[in-house]
Amino acid sequence: MALIDMASSKSVWRGMEYYKQNKVNSCEPKADGTYEGTVTGNVGDVYHVHLDMEHPKKSNCDCPMANGRKVICKHIVAVSMHVASSEADRFKNEKTIYGSAFLNYVQPVTILLG
Ligand SMILES: [Zn+2]
Repeated sequence: MALIDMASSKSVWRGMEYYKQNKVNSCEPKADGTYEGTVTGNVGDVYHVHLDMEHPKKSNCDCPMANGRKVICKHIVAVSMHVASSEADRFKNEKTIYGSAFLNYVQPVTILLG
């Protein structure tokens, strides 16, 4: 199941807003294929997101909604969109071969972001 399917529709829309408002401060790829990102919350708090696109259930965030729970919150969604859009750009630029699972995820996100 793709990460975006595990999030509530509210988290997806809020995450998209966060992404569009550039609330994703940083997003660093790790050697194991996961990402570590930071997102500014709506009261100025900074939340730390661990994003695992391959195993979405292993993703987490230290905000009150997601911390210690298997919940895909809007911060995780925002970081995943940041990753998806930069990976989509790289795909277009370099024609890099990605797994079909990844493309199945990126294409709907790219369409949603217009
Ligand atoms: Zn969160």
